[in-house]
Amino acid sequence: MNKQKVYFKTFGCRTNQFDTQVMMSKLKDFDLTLNEDEADVIMVNSCTVTNGADSSVRAYINGSKRKNPDAKVILAGCGSHSKGESLFEDKKVFGVMGHSEKEKINEILKIEKPFYQIGDLKHIDSSIVDEFIGKSRAFIKIQEGCNFRCSYCIIPSVRGDARSHKEENILLQIEKLASNGFGEFILTGTNVGSYGQDQNSSMAKLLKKMSQIRGVRRIRIGSLEPIQIDDEFKELLKEPWMAKHLHIALQHTSDKMLKLMNRRNNFKSDTILLEELASYGYALGTDYIVGHPGEDEKEWKEAIERVKFLPLTHIHAFSYSKRDNTASATMKPEIKGNIAKERHRELTALIKEKNFEFRKEHADNLEVLIEQEYKGVYSGYDQYFNKLEVTSEEDLKANWITINHATIKGNKNVANYQ
Ligand code: SF4
Repeated sequence: MNKQKVYFKTFGCRTNQFDTQVMMSKLKDFDLTLNEDEADVIMVNSCTVTNGADSSVRAYINGSKRKNPDAKVILAGCGSHSKGESLFEDKKVFGVMGHSEKEKINEILKIEKPFYQIGDLKHIDSSIVDEFIGKSRAFIKIQEGCNFRCSYCIIPSVRGDARSHKEENILLQIEKLASNGFGEFILTGTNVGSYGQDQNSSMAKLLKKMSQIRGVRRIRIGSLEPIQIDDEFKELLKEPWMAKHLHIALQHTSDKMLKLMNRRNNFKSDTILLEELASYGYALGTDYIVGHPGEDEKEWKEAIERVKFLPLTHIHAFSYSKRDNTASATMKPEIKGNIAKERHRELTALIKEKNFEFRKEHADNLEVLIEQEYKGVYSGYDQYFNKLEVTSEEDLKANWITINHATIKGNKNVANYQ
């Protein structure tokens, strides 16, 4: 008998992409298809981070039911926890399964009647997921969920509180990959820096153990909250295996905005921290939200002035987008989209300049792991997380190279390699 075909549609962030991988790896009695028109089952791994994300998922479900009316549409992912009930009641989907059910997917897909299996938000998968960039860099998911309650964020109510994967599983996975030639590891999760709190461990302890694994050459951490950088962590800053780039999620530089956002950081302590990290030679990135309600002209002027004095080199800037059922969704005054867009532009242009200045001062001893090649041009990232393109006659793919006297261009460094 032919196996039923399952098509996966993934919305949202890297964590969701990881979750799709977990589901795919557990499908035993079904075949995967990349063609949604021939699918018997369409698994929608949804995102619910903003109202816009909800609309995209709903539009996709409606469209796929029109194109392939015989397929069973099943809703998984964050949207199953926020919109699953109503979509199920309205018969828009055949089934709903929550995050904790992913590893049972093979059994769940065999259910013949409509089902609503939302599970709980305390579960942590037993499989550690990794994703590879080329043959040498691997993302490792080390935790799930978040204990913070930022006003604009729905994540804690759809992904639950922070919980960590078992240390022994993480280390085992890294050992396996390192013995297969992976040299750089990037630790990810919903709130990566909270790793270990529930296991009497810490990020610093995990890093130390990772660094002892043969073959591990460089470790990056997806993102950290300022208050998660404690003395134990700071002791590792000089270690040669630490990537010289940290991503610290500030979200804003105005204390009024940080308070409205219910953040746990403030500008004064953020400045002290960033300056200390920069003094160890680190490039520093951040997340920043512009256009959150309450960010009036005066606040913004002060905030952007403050950014000028911070030693930042990279940024993920987001324009605020409303999410129902969060505290921020009812806050006033709202900021118009065009104003937020302009602030976004101003902020990213400023960090671009700062990044350029940083690269001018860091053009030597660049340790680059080559990930890609295109027409004889190889590219990868250095220890400061700046991109470098290098021309070479030699095949450099998956090699570590050291570059001196890089030429500094607009948004990347370039060099010749002989
Ligand atoms: S730290 Fe804040 S923004 Fe990040 S997931 Fe937790 S609540 Fe959301």
